Amino acid sequence: LTILGLESSCDDTAAAILRCNGEGAPDILASVVHGQADLHAAFGGVVPEIAARAHAEKLDICVEEALAAGQVSLSDIDAIAVTAGPGLIGGVLSGVMCAKGLSSGLGIPLIGVNHLAGHALTPRLTDHVTFPYLMLLVSGGHCQFLIARGAEDFSRLGGTIDDAPGEAFDKTARLLGLPQPGGPSVQKAAERGDPKKFRFPRPLLDRPGCDMSFSGLKTALLRARDSVVTEKGGLTERDQADLCAGFQAAVVDVLAEKTRRAIDLYLAETPQIPLLAVAGGVAANTAIRARLETVCSDLGVQFTAPPLALCTDNAAMIAYAGLERFRLGHTDDMTLVARPRWPLDNKAPALLGSGK
Ligand code: ATP
Ligand code: FE
Repeated sequence: LTILGLESSCDDTAAAILRCNGEGAPDILASVVHGQADLHAAFGGVVPEIAARAHAEKLDICVEEALAAGQVSLSDIDAIAVTAGPGLIGGVLSGVMCAKGLSSGLGIPLIGVNHLAGHALTPRLTDHVTFPYLMLLVSGGHCQFLIARGAEDFSRLGGTIDDAPGEAFDKTARLLGLPQPGGPSVQKAAERGDPKKFRFPRPLLDRPGCDMSFSGLKTALLRARDSVVTEKGGLTERDQADLCAGFQAAVVDVLAEKTRRAIDLYLAETPQIPLLAVAGGVAANTAIRARLETVCSDLGVQFTAPPLALCTDNAAMIAYAGLERFRLGHTDDMTLVARPRWPLDNKAPALLGSGK
């Protein structure tokens, strides 16, 4: 079975091709990602209209490049998986329209995929993880602990009550004059900084459960930056590095402590050998990975994180989530809709695709 995946929910246009024989894990034949960072750089954030137009222009090119890289022709494709939400609606629509066109033109099944399911199932693609597992999904727009019991069966244990950490990394970069996306540039600056020079809050640690809050951190960062600027008349590279290190240390501490609690909650419900998988763009952060790995080894929990390129947005994860749905016998038709919001929890209505 050869499956083409399309992703266009935020600021990366991507196409990927997976191939599998029987029930086994698929091979990634090609995974092409065209980022749009340069288009949005001047605006300090993703502009939805610009993103939608760029996706519409780039999707065909991504598909062609993926076919060439995978040495596959369109007639070899057996099914199309596409992100149907959640995300910026113009971009999601571009992807869904492109997938519908290919599906009807080639006469092959169409599979709508929840972008978050794509992130959450990635450890199964890369590390052959079996259900159930505990998932920390931590990205540009989301931050939540989930129990993954099946490809369409997730329950949420808790998560951020305001900003996502990726958003906080991006805002931190903006406030300190570092390039976007903020995650990698803040991480790089933090490596040279002293995490104790500025002390940032660790919100909600006094509350039980695994809910988190990151919006206070950026206010604290803004205040710390302004105090340095007022005192010295400007930010030195040293200050930038120290502010980044202090900010990152706070995020790492919160994620580590809340992960401990999520593991407790998970164990209360699921008696199997515990495994924590992290995914989403922020899971690319090496300090976060290292700390979560320590938390897990302290508690005798297995830990896994996908390779960096499969943590941030890509279409291989969408093709894979589509394959899992397909194996459950679930496909969509031309009524598949693009959704701006789409929670990944089996208590929320319509988990995947058009909900059929
Ligand atoms: P979502 O998946 O929630 O819809 P998204 O698709 O924008 O959001 P991803 O592509 O999964 O998010 O991740 C992008 C985010 O990850 C950005 O906010 C980026 O700053 C962050 N990120 C990437 N690399 C790192 C890193 N090394 N450290 C911290 N954050 C990072
Ligand atoms: Fe994402």
